[in-house]
Amino acid sequence: MTELAKILRRQIEATGPITLADYMSACLLHPKHGYYTTQDALGVDGDFTTAPEISQMFGELIGLCVAQSWMDQGAPDRFALVELGPGRGTLIADILRATMQVPGFQAAADLHLVEASDRMRQLQAAALPAHHPTWHDTVETLPEDIPVYVIANEFFDALPIRQFQRDPKGWREVMVGISEDGSLQRGLSDAAPIDALNSRLEDTEPGALIETCAHGSAVVDAIARRIARFGGMALFVDYGGWHSDGDTFQAVRGHRPVGPFDEPGCADLTAHVDFEALARAALIVGCAVSQFTNQGVFLERLGITPRAQSLAKGLAGDALTTHVAAHRRLTHPDEMGSLFKVLGLYPASESPPPGLDP
Ligand code: SAH
Repeated sequence: MTELAKILRRQIEATGPITLADYMSACLLHPKHGYYTTQDALGVDGDFTTAPEISQMFGELIGLCVAQSWMDQGAPDRFALVELGPGRGTLIADILRATMQVPGFQAAADLHLVEASDRMRQLQAAALPAHHPTWHDTVETLPEDIPVYVIANEFFDALPIRQFQRDPKGWREVMVGISEDGSLQRGLSDAAPIDALNSRLEDTEPGALIETCAHGSAVVDAIARRIARFGGMALFVDYGGWHSDGDTFQAVRGHRPVGPFDEPGCADLTAHVDFEALARAALIVGCAVSQFTNQGVFLERLGITPRAQSLAKGLAGDALTTHVAAHRRLTHPDEMGSLFKVLGLYPASESPPPGLDP
């Protein structure tokens, strides 16, 4: 049993079963035993590999997309360049490298990183030796007087979710309790009506399971308000769909699926992102939302193939094989190309970021 499992068991014994959101928060961000606070999760040696860790092309193209959008909005002379959950800092480092040649862009940019883990902040600082980012625990403290250009890759999938199972008498919430042998296990609360879920009564039947992510909607609310008022844009890249439907809670350790309650604190926990809920949070505060677009299509529109061909000219042997595989992995529908999606936020008076349709 992990140290964190013992802590959670004592807590549950004292005060009763906890929600999945509380469980997920503890597993990922517990100050001493959380996954992001203790492990180097990312990369070939870690538990999962993200797009920027696969190829520099991902960050380069996103960098040029951000810079073009900044020029389309009149190249404001001061703006916040923001990344949510920057991991090892690879994506933001690639963005900064790719935009070095864009006149005025970097001089106008204040760099802000939203990162909950001190350990991750250290990795990010090491990846950005020439920059002086301001770190934030939450989006609430981001600047409120300048345009914000926000990137988030595989950030929303790490935010805590709750699960509800429809019941003839309302909804039963999925809770984490203790089994007879003392291990952590999934259970269900008593059924009760939940007003906030009334809209889901139309498209579900008793027995159906849905997921909600209040934290994700709150993040979008804070960012979309800033974009609607001061300009800028946001690009959210993640795996998920356009409507929460069914159980997508999962744990990964060493690139393999494991039971989400087996090793709390030692495995990565994620859930599919419900992009419709994120879009709704943006629209409600007057921010425009792009078409929901596959990552493969987005990267092709931004010119990944010519970029891949140009990089390939300088490569041979294994390096060339790895490069060709990385291009395929990022874009092909059988790989990340259609599993990963992109949603853009932008001011209603402007056009969407390059690569996305209004
Ligand atoms: N964007 C990176 C890393 C994704 S992993 C990449 O593409 O490689 C998720 C990142 O989000 C990690 O840096 C993790 O520490 C951070 N994170 C997770 N939950 C968070 C929260 N609630 N607030 C801020 N950062 C969080």
